[in-house]
Amino acid sequence: MSDIFVLIEHRQGKIRDISFELLNCGRKLAEKTNSNLTALLLGYNTENFVEKIKSQAHRILVINSEVFKDFNSESYQIALSEILKKETPFITLIGHTACGMDLCPALATQMEFPFTTDCLDVDVVENKVKVTRQMYDGKLNAKLIIRENPSYLFTLRAGNFPSEESSLKTEIINIKSSVTEPDYRKFVEYIEAVAGDVDITKSDIVIGIGRGIKEQENLSMIEEFADNIGGVVACSRPIVDADWLPKDRQVGSSGKTIKPKLYIAIGISGAFQHITGMKGAETIIAINKDPNAPIFNEADYGIVDDLFKVVPVLKEKVMELK
Ligand SMILES: Cc1cc2nc3c(=O)[nH]c(=O)nc-3n(C[C@H](O)[C@H](O)[C@H](O)COP(=O)(O)OP(=O)(O)OC[C@H]3O[C@@H](n4cnc5c(N)ncnc54)[C@H](O)[C@@H]3O)c2cc1C
Repeated sequence: MSDIFVLIEHRQGKIRDISFELLNCGRKLAEKTNSNLTALLLGYNTENFVEKIKSQAHRILVINSEVFKDFNSESYQIALSEILKKETPFITLIGHTACGMDLCPALATQMEFPFTTDCLDVDVVENKVKVTRQMYDGKLNAKLIIRENPSYLFTLRAGNFPSEESSLKTEIINIKSSVTEPDYRKFVEYIEAVAGDVDITKSDIVIGIGRGIKEQENLSMIEEFADNIGGVVACSRPIVDADWLPKDRQVGSSGKTIKPKLYIAIGISGAFQHITGMKGAETIIAINKDPNAPIFNEADYGIVDDLFKVVPVLKEKVMELK
């Protein structure tokens, strides 16, 4: 069987976390299929990147060119299609990120690869390629067998393959690329989102509040509770859409990814877009009046009750303990 390939994603001079998750998934697939894992690295001044991922793959194919300093799906597609035609990997994994979503549909169409997006898992069982992806807003996981083809392309959702140490002997292969500045798209500027007063990615304790809070004025109860236990308040997307909290407090696929020691989800149903952002928390407590809310599938501890009854009691207990 030919190799497993993963695309290394980087931004502003840093390798993005998803790349290490892809490498982890790729290593598992390579082991299972008795093949090698190749990391594709397109960038500029790539030495630092190579240093960070060395030992995580059997090979790193590097294109070091100013054209790849910043992500541009047009130039990436040209370069990757050239490599994929030449190398014909068995499975190529790319992050289900803004970059992956921008790049992969056109790349898969050009290559005529079977392509499945937003996979939670990719596996090879008895020579059949199987992927797991969610359906019906995360209510069920579908396991799909992909039609047979020499090569496949998948995007992988973040948060399912934690980065792991690895000590592979890595061959580094530099490739010359003829790709020049693309015709249609140009990278203009990277604009960092304005930082708010609270950075929810830095706190050990995060209280996530969702639509169950009902009214904006009820947020003060949650803020008091968060102060009480030394945490910060984050939220699901509807709370941001309602303008009750700023965008930088949103947890999830279109918000922030957080990995606190403790995440308390209050009045949050647990849509997959939210789960993606918080499933890396060490301990998850969910408070929800609906016993079937999907958030309980992720929670280590769950309280099925009205949040307006539970939060004051918790606050009181914390005060007592203090
Ligand atoms: C492209 C896209 C990107 C998205 N990105 C994100 C994202 O980054 N982050 C995100 O969060 N969402 C995101 N969403 C939205 C997501 O699909 C859900 O709609 C959203 O997460 C639901 O928020 P919620 O859980 O607060 O609300 P709901 O789904 O309405 O859930 C409210 C919950 O509160 C419970 N509840 C109600 N009253 C009480 C009470 N008194 N006591 C206890 N429990 C109570 C209910 O049982 C329910 O489970 C995205 C959607 C799309 C399409």
